[in-house]
Amino acid sequence: MALLIDGKQISTDIKDELKETVARLKEQGIEGALAVIQVGADPASSVYVRNKKKACEYIGIRSVSYELPEETTEEELLGIIEKLNEDNTINGILCQLPVPAHMDENKIIRAIAPQKDVDGFHTQNVGALVVGQEGFVSCTPAGVIQLLKRSDIAIEGKHCVVVGRSNIVGKPMALLMLQENATVTICHSRTKNLKEICKEADILIVAIGKPKFINADYVKEGAVVIDVGIHRNENNKLCGDVDFDSVEPKASYITPVPGGVGPMTIAMLMNNCVEAFMD
Ligand code: NDP
Repeated sequence: MALLIDGKQISTDIKDELKETVARLKEQGIEGALAVIQVGADPASSVYVRNKKKACEYIGIRSVSYELPEETTEEELLGIIEKLNEDNTINGILCQLPVPAHMDENKIIRAIAPQKDVDGFHTQNVGALVVGQEGFVSCTPAGVIQLLKRSDIAIEGKHCVVVGRSNIVGKPMALLMLQENATVTICHSRTKNLKEICKEADILIVAIGKPKFINADYVKEGAVVIDVGIHRNENNKLCGDVDFDSVEPKASYITPVPGGVGPMTIAMLMNNCVEAFMD
């Protein structure tokens, strides 16, 4: 039976630590603010944005909301970002993705000043991660590293298989594990022998966006299994990319869904926000 990695508890610990740091900085007269931009009213995005603002409130930083209509032009959005880049009272800028189809997502990401890009999506921050320099790191993979470290799971020298190569999860995840001295294999939809490769993993990190795709046949006895996926099943219950019931008896550690990786993303966003105004 696997030990559960409690992302809810670990994310609360991180937010409580940040709350203390923010209070200490306030005493020194240092305060920060996050600008949160949402274009359109996608219900899932609205939930994420609300939770991000709630987290700001919890740790004691100001959040400034920009709720823009779906018809907003790319030029208008770029204009707002430019103003926020120049605004010294704003330390972090977050534009909730996806943006409407008439906008170029990459152009929006590139428009945010790298030193305010608390999502860690700007190519300058991604490049810094590649060469091992300081910069903002994408929140979900950064959260996975915290889950492993705070659960006392050794990374160095372990074979880590990352399934998924998206820009916001898979790729930065693999780079972070490499930085922690794991031996890293990245798999994707064209990978041959996925099952065999996954079975070699000491640490298996799954971010493919397919409900319950990874079952016990993909997992080595005693492996650490991290499930980044989030889905709602036919009964409206949350599940991950890993078939928990099948994998749990075989793994040494596993993240549940919900309550595993999910809560870490916002905790790490808050961490990036605090870093943005400590500098
Ligand atoms: P993407 O759809 O952007 O990427 C999925 C990746 O999985 C791609 O690289 C794709 O390969 C690969 N893939 C798809 N099917 C297979 C397959 N059959 N075998 C092997 N690889 C496959 O997803 P994201 O990275 O954005 O998200 C992944 C999951 O994580 C989703 O469930 C998402 O909801 C969740 N998520 C959770 C977050 C959290 O806070 N917990 C935050 C972000 C995402 P290819 O590149 O070849 O197409």
